[in-house]
Amino acid sequence: MLKAVIFDLDGTLLDLPINYSTMYKKFSELTGIHEIRPLLKTITQIKNPQILKQVFDIWTEHELDIIDKITIHKEGMLLYNQYIELPKALVTMQGKETITKIRQKFNLQFDAIFTRENTCDRTEQLKLAITKLNTTPQDTLFIGNMDNDENAANQTGCQFIKV
Ligand SMILES: [Mg+2]
Repeated sequence: MLKAVIFDLDGTLLDLPINYSTMYKKFSELTGIHEIRPLLKTITQIKNPQILKQVFDIWTEHELDIIDKITIHKEGMLLYNQYIELPKALVTMQGKETITKIRQKFNLQFDAIFTRENTCDRTEQLKLAITKLNTTPQDTLFIGNMDNDENAANQTGCQFIKV
């Protein structure tokens, strides 16, 4: 049975044209880490909370820079509207400040939101969302766009749709 839906944001509901090359260059200067990719692995290696905050602040700047250039990802938005009546969560690698602005601009409503400030681990984000929505993995559908999303859904035991 389907009782709740969890959405990814970038590449699923919306497309965010973030300038990652500029952002990674700034991350390198700040952290001394030469190869930032894969980003999420690099993030988990940053143990200093002040450095991590600065990294997240730079990331937020790059997100806010492109707020007016964000476009709708049609397939994901159709699913959002299809499941509008069900309890919904958002799991995203974007930041809280960015998500607040995006939610207002695109009129997106969620019962729970987990951002990079909560955790950058997609599986952990799904578990947090399932708990918050008071549902079970089997009764939850996760909609994402990456292999990483599908792996996290499988690890958690959720249903999954890739857009
Ligand atoms: Mg995505």
